[in-house]
Amino acid sequence: MLSIFVETSCNRYNRDECVSCHVYEPLMEHPVSQWHLTVEQAVSMAEKIKNVEVLNALAQQEINLTGGEASQNPEIVEICKVFQTVTPHVCLHTNLDILSDTSKRWLRLVELMKLGIRVDITLYPTAWESSQKYFMGEMLKLQSKLIVNVVYESLTDLQSQIGLLLNFFKDTAYTHVTELLQTYADKIASLNKDHCDEKLFTQHLGDTEAFAQKPEFTLGLSLLPAFKIDDNGHRSMASMPFPKDPYFIGCPAARGSIDIMTIQQNGEMTPCCDVGNLKCQPKFGNVLMDTPEEIMAKMEGSMKVLASGIQKNHENLKTGKAGHLVEEGIPPYCH
Ligand code: SF4
Repeated sequence: MLSIFVETSCNRYNRDECVSCHVYEPLMEHPVSQWHLTVEQAVSMAEKIKNVEVLNALAQQEINLTGGEASQNPEIVEICKVFQTVTPHVCLHTNLDILSDTSKRWLRLVELMKLGIRVDITLYPTAWESSQKYFMGEMLKLQSKLIVNVVYESLTDLQSQIGLLLNFFKDTAYTHVTELLQTYADKIASLNKDHCDEKLFTQHLGDTEAFAQKPEFTLGLSLLPAFKIDDNGHRSMASMPFPKDPYFIGCPAARGSIDIMTIQQNGEMTPCCDVGNLKCQPKFGNVLMDTPEEIMAKMEGSMKVLASGIQKNHENLKTGKAGHLVEEGIPPYCH
């Protein structure tokens, strides 16, 4: 999959067409004129993707447009059409925290769903009653697939978020979805939340499907533990729900296989789902600035750097030095 950032702003301020920002400090580095990926930049990215085999192969699996809040980009409909010239599998991620059904953001999402773009959401309990619940109902009238990201800070939080989804789907005809959600609810309820570590959690949920699939509707669930981020923007070693266990990320690129590529709005690429806070240093090229040959050369060189860094991370783990930064500039939790 290719994950492409199309919007810097998060929309948390006025929740529709922010033109200034005091909410998310890092945005202050970006002038408003650079908040939105432009159609011209999308055209340039699309051409490059078609001409770099590795990127084109990932795009044929799926291009996922994200941000920031992708629906806040005023040109998002045209941008999606550009990426649909690369692959039929284009989807977009939204927070679905929308003011009203006359909101420009909602009207754009409706247009996208009508174009066959799958719209996915992250569940926000604070926005559920006021916004997400209503708009999710409207989305189900327009598309037959939906992936919901559930970001949880504790098992109690996860249980409560699954409960929101379960109550919502109980009012629909999709019994296969309620059955899956009930399985999650029962499994999470039966965990001893004070003594559950990540291994126990994974074993307990191990064989539970991530998708409730039927031709009339498919729901995908993606359960994502939350992480604290320090003042320098670095992610902590352990996730919030399982603070005693370092949370390691397997790096396919270090093993010679690129399974996912994240493209930042400035064109910089990272071969994992990092949104920038892992601060991984090896460069995989810039899809806006570099030629296909330069991109391939950077990928090849950086994969070797990743492999060497991962080997050192392993040695550090074995010798009780987990968390030490290695000279290759990769995060200490990647292995
Ligand atoms: S080493 Fe870098 S590219 Fe690999 S998983 Fe970690 S952050 Fe991603």
